[in-house]
Parts: sequence; structure tokens; C-alpha cells
Amino acid sequence: MQVGEIDWGPSKGYQIQDYQLSPSSWNRYEECPRKYWLSRQSLPRKVGMPIVIGNAIHNSVEDLCNFDISNKNDDDKGWLPKLAKKTLDHHWQLQKDIFFDTPRRPKWKSNSYNKAIDGLNKALYMLLSQVKIDNVKLSNVSVRMWRKIREIIIAAEGTMNSNCGKLMGRLDLLLKDIDEEGNQIGWIVVDLKTGKPPKGKLSETVNRQLRFYRDLLMLININHPPIRAEGWYTANETTHEAIGPSVTDNAMTTWDLIELTDIPFEATPEEFTCGFCEWKAWCPKWLIAINEGVLKKGGRFSNEVVKLVNFDPDEGLASFEVMFPEGQDGDLVESGERFGAFLANQPLNQLRELYSQGYEGPLFLGSARLDGEIRHLGDWSEILPWKPLLKSIRG
Ligand code: SF4
Repeated sequence: MQVGEIDWGPSKGYQIQDYQLSPSSWNRYEECPRKYWLSRQSLPRKVGMPIVIGNAIHNSVEDLCNFDISNKNDDDKGWLPKLAKKTLDHHWQLQKDIFFDTPRRPKWKSNSYNKAIDGLNKALYMLLSQVKIDNVKLSNVSVRMWRKIREIIIAAEGTMNSNCGKLMGRLDLLLKDIDEEGNQIGWIVVDLKTGKPPKGKLSETVNRQLRFYRDLLMLININHPPIRAEGWYTANETTHEAIGPSVTDNAMTTWDLIELTDIPFEATPEEFTCGFCEWKAWCPKWLIAINEGVLKKGGRFSNEVVKLVNFDPDEGLASFEVMFPEGQDGDLVESGERFGAFLANQPLNQLRELYSQGYEGPLFLGSARLDGEIRHLGDWSEILPWKPLLKSIRG
């Protein structure tokens, strides 16, 4: 195969497997198999501003890389910042629509737009730097300079499927790897990262994710040139290469393990993973782990299962009774411990809705801020019905 000709594997609609392993499903499974199982149950998802910012930047970079510049003059300048803003505005609006269509959402933060434009500009500077164009403002980027970037882009966004149909990955960018003399020496898989950059080397999960892309590309392109995989962190404009052996065999083994069953997968409660798990209202295991002293109780922000005692929907004041787990399936017993809470924004709206529907069951309180005996629940918090899921609800 000539360098530049790329095979993406079987196209969409030609799935020869019922389910596939992607880097994100792999990570989720490794963190906690139950978390992966719950993520596949079509439960209501959560959205937040970091997701909005990340998606808007990714989609804008893709559009800008594919933008047709054939009719522009080589010396034209000043077009890139305007085009970048217009492209971002378009994707920002699309993300905003998705955000407001998602029931589990915090408050919309308009000023996050500035973070998105900053991230997009930094991604463009990283692309310029890749073709050795440094210290130039975006307003001074000529079409000739941009053509240099276009010359190294093999693909902007692409979905790869292994020929066996088991593995799937979405690439942000596939670039030509160019040496100092300008000769192409291989391919670079680029994954744009809009989150926090690593302090030293890449985390194990990101490293594995990048190698997954690299190895999947190798798997479906038998005559591939040398391939490197890099994470590009827009926040501080740093590039981190993922190095290590092939992950393909492990990926195939994991594929065998993630086939969904009717009963939930094993849960492996752990402080950090449970802290950021969006499925706690459907999982009894973190609550049992707290009760058994495996996970810490409290902290500045707490997750609890409670019974509503009093509620003033107008004032946003409520009192709750803490519930303790009984058995392994999420059944509860009263504890006699009560506390008062101030509610605002998302959790207040959620409780108002449940209250108006006449819901009287137990509630999951996510991320309540502790202030002495009082809890504060604001944009960062959630109130959901407590509904431990013990059997698959997939159709
Ligand atoms: S809450 Fe913890 S134990 Fe339960 S699914 Fe999430 S990560 Fe796993």
C-alpha cells in the first residue's frame, strides 16, 4: 500500500459483531465492570460544560481541516480567525441544543465559550507547529501556510473497525510524519485532548487508548508505514507520545468479557472511580462499601441515599433522613439520622418534579456540600430516584 492510502476496515452498517470494544468502553470496564454494564443500559446520561467545550473544539478542528481553500489566494491573511470563530459558533450552538435536550445537566455557563475559542486557537497553533510554523499569530496565517497543514493531513476524524468487527476506534487526526528534511517517514495518530494535561508521562488509560488507535490502524493496514500515537493537550500545547507494546491481544481478550449479560457485572467500588461514576443512583455497591468501611464516608462533598421528610418547593428547603443499606441488592433501612438542606438550580428542579409526581421512594443525593449539619445542593449536585438495577433493561 502507498503511504497515504488508508484502510478504515469494514464500514458502518457492516458490523459482524453485536457489540464492539472501543478505548472508552475498555477504560470503563477496567475501572469497574458494573460501571460498564450500567453504561450500556440506556439510562439517562449526564452532560457538563467540559463535554460541551471538548465536542465543540473537536468538531471545529475537523471542519477547519476539511475546509475547502482551493479558491483562495496563497497570500490571503486574516481569514483564519474569522473562519475559526464562525465554525466554533456553529458547533457551540449544536452542543448547546444537545445540552438543553439532556435532562441531567447543570447550569449552562456562557463564559465557557471563551475556553472553547482559546482551546480551538491552541489546537490550530499546534497544527502550525507540526509544519514548523511557529511564532505567527492566527491573523497572519496565510493560505500558503495553511496549505502546508493540509498537505500533512491524511484524515480529520475517521472511524476504524477491525476486520473481525470486534474493535472500534475514532481517530481525531491522522497526519503524515515528516522528518527534518521534509520526507515522509510514517503516520501520526493524533488524539486531541481538551482536559487537564499530564504532569509527567501519560496516564496508563490514555496511553492504552492511544496505543489502541495505533494498533487498530496497523491491524487493518497490513502494509502500514511506522505509526506513532500522540495525545495533543490544547491547555498547555504539549504533545505526549504513547509508547509500549501492542494492546491488540489484550483488547481481543477484553472483547470476550464485555458481552452483556442479563444480570449485572461485578462491581469493584473504589474511591476515585465511584466518586466520578454517573450511575450511582442505579448501583447499590458503593453504598454498601461505605457502610462496610471499604469506602470513606462524608468528606466535603457526600453521596447519600435518603428519605424525604419535609420539603418547601418555593423556598428550596428540605429535610431528609439518611438510609442505610440492608443486604446486597440496594434495600434500605431507616437510620434515624436527619439533616436539613438548602437546594438550588438542578437538584431543586429535580426534587420539585419528583414531588409534584407524588414520588415517595428513596432518593439518591449526589455531591451534597457539607456545612456543619447542613447540606447545600446546587448546580454541582443531583437528586435522583434510588433505583438499583439488578437485571438488564435492554430491549
Ligand atoms: S458506583 Fe462505583 S461500584 Fe457502582 S458502578 Fe459506579 S464505579 Fe462501580
